[in-house]
Amino acid sequence: MNLTEKEVLSLLKAEGKELAALYKQADQVRQENVGDEVYLRGILEVSNYCKKSCNYCGIRSKIKNITRYRMDTTEIIQACKDMERNKMTTVVIQGGEDAKLSKEYIGELIRKIKKETKLAITLSLGDQPKDTLIHWKNCGADRYLIRYESSDPDLFAKAHPDDDLTTRLTFIKTLQEIGIQAGSGFLIGIPGQTIEGLAKEILFCSSLNLDMIGIGPFIPHPDTPFGIESNPFDKEVFFKVISIMRLLNPKAHIPSTTAFDAIQPNGRNLLLQRGANVFMPNATPQKYRKFYQLYPNKPCIDESGDDCAKCVQGRIVSIGRKIGTDQGHSLLAKEKK
Ligand code: SAH
Repeated sequence: MNLTEKEVLSLLKAEGKELAALYKQADQVRQENVGDEVYLRGILEVSNYCKKSCNYCGIRSKIKNITRYRMDTTEIIQACKDMERNKMTTVVIQGGEDAKLSKEYIGELIRKIKKETKLAITLSLGDQPKDTLIHWKNCGADRYLIRYESSDPDLFAKAHPDDDLTTRLTFIKTLQEIGIQAGSGFLIGIPGQTIEGLAKEILFCSSLNLDMIGIGPFIPHPDTPFGIESNPFDKEVFFKVISIMRLLNPKAHIPSTTAFDAIQPNGRNLLLQRGANVFMPNATPQKYRKFYQLYPNKPCIDESGDDCAKCVQGRIVSIGRKIGTDQGHSLLAKEKK
């Protein structure tokens, strides 16, 4: 489906019957194009060391009052085996930009996970050189997830003292060129964003032809420079964005991102019924979770990997959906072949 900027804007403002129709249509488009399977991709937050100081992020380097941790290889492999036992088919290795997670170390880790499990591997380790990406792909990485956060040059610059937008967008192009499945997206309500800017962002994101689209609301973290900001939009807008993205990107994998549970209990369930088709349960060992609070009110801080796995299986059954049994690779990548 194509929508003009004006049409997107009007959907962002939809209320009452129109809003119900948007959610219903997004759910139908989801069902027709990516089916009833919900793919489980366990997130393993392997390190909260980060050399960057993104102004919204709860693990930015300038925050001194958190304990920094790094999981070791044995813990990571054990968590991957637990994930497999819990019906997850992908591990998402996420962390800050940590120099100790080197090209060679992550390369070896990928090989080990591939040898010891059948999991697909998504990496989410921030900005990296092209030769590192190619090496990780050659070692067996299937996908890479990095949000561009905002395509408005001013808003990107205000949020990212250490990064620039052109480099970030080039990074996403590089992923596509080297043939690793690419996931990206933006923060809804990043400080300075207007509703018109949000409509433009939705169209820009759709133009990237992404395999996966990961989008969530900006939630102010009190220990960051953006802690004094507030999200300019009401929470209904957050859901509308995902529904509109589904209409514009029928074949993309769209996760029901964790931050939706932080803004509303059962937010992730609702989102699965409004366009999303992927769930990313937290698979990080419980003892580390309190140190990886990118934003306040992050769910599941006191749970274990097994708790989250059990919970998500119940959630999916309760809304009449099925757990995806294959790896849930990109449908766009299949078409490109
Ligand atoms: N360092 C990696 C991965 C960790 S951050 C990277 O930057 O890609 C993962 C995502 O968390 C970011 O892309 C950002 O969109 C989100 N995030 C961080 N702080 C947030 C906040 N305060 N509110 C909402 N999302 C946040």
